[in-house]
Amino acid sequence: MSRVYNFSAGPAVLPEEVLKEAAAEMLDYNKTGMSVMEMSHRSKAYQEIIDTAEADLRELMNIPDNYKVLFLQGGASQQFAMIPMNLMKHGEADYIVTGQWAKKAYQEAQKYGKANKIASSEDKTFSYIPDVSNLPISENADYVYICENNTIYGTKYKELPDTKGKLLVSDVSSCFLSEPVDVTKYGVIYGGVQKNIGPAGVVIVIIREDLITDDVPEGTPTMLKYKTHADAGSLYNTPPAYGIYICGKVFKWLKRKGGLAAMKEYNEKKAKILYDFLDESRLFKGTVEKKDRSLMNVPFVTGDKELDAKFVKESQAAGFENLKGHRTVGGMRASIYNAMPIEGVEALVAFMKKFEEENL
Ligand SMILES: *Cc1c(COP(=O)(O)O)cnc(C)c1O
Repeated sequence: MSRVYNFSAGPAVLPEEVLKEAAAEMLDYNKTGMSVMEMSHRSKAYQEIIDTAEADLRELMNIPDNYKVLFLQGGASQQFAMIPMNLMKHGEADYIVTGQWAKKAYQEAQKYGKANKIASSEDKTFSYIPDVSNLPISENADYVYICENNTIYGTKYKELPDTKGKLLVSDVSSCFLSEPVDVTKYGVIYGGVQKNIGPAGVVIVIIREDLITDDVPEGTPTMLKYKTHADAGSLYNTPPAYGIYICGKVFKWLKRKGGLAAMKEYNEKKAKILYDFLDESRLFKGTVEKKDRSLMNVPFVTGDKELDAKFVKESQAAGFENLKGHRTVGGMRASIYNAMPIEGVEALVAFMKKFEEENL
């Protein structure tokens, strides 16, 4: 067996300890004589798995009692529709467009009401986070929507927008559990887990209880109402059972690592190694405004497309996978989520230094 350093943006690297535990339990989970994959979601054993996962997530994020935790399907992209369907009570919402995912959410919301683009960074290829300290928040907006960490472009909000009293809804797919958060600042926090938590197929929605109502547009499918899932403890229908089990293991792993404050420290240390190198390199450079740099996704370029392609090819041959940038931006991107060990980043920088010497 040989493992590579996997810098994929998602699905992405998972903690090796978690994968080993899952492998050990594959044929017989906790003396049930079956795999979690084969288990009824109505069984006592499964109920314990999902309850423990929720309790551990609540502890990690310090989620107040008046917030529900929902384990849903449909990816982060399905939330682009569920959010306006469930929350646009007055038919209007404000969107801050800082990348492709925020833009998709903004476009989807237009199907359900008036979506206002109140700020954008598209003018400079989404390479920064706009000033959000005094935005023209719409009087009738039911919420203000952000994508907190922009996976493709590598930017992250360092301050949340002043929503002037409006509800804040945040897509945290690619920064989920990477640092402590104050849940009370949000109406909804959600994310697909395949970036920083678990296998694709699960999306976690943390939503303030008073926002979960039956007041949704006529014709809203049962499965797309938050209330359906909240009332049933995420077991209205068969949930993505195996995925939730792996998420639960990652929550336990995060607790063993010291929780989100310790994770933040580790992530800052890792990202600094790479950013410091990019800042001093004569060949490579980061593509994002320094103040808005993400700890999770680090895009960089040489400035020469052919050299970029050469780098991607040679890095792969050397055991660094998925460093190719997103197809819409080109260049390279290293996603260095929680489970990427610091040794992986150190090895990457050493490889980049060598490549620089050989190609300057
Ligand atoms: C990957 C990603 C999405 C889309 O996730 P799917 O689960 O594929 O729908 C949305 N938002 C962000 C920030 C992402 O990184």
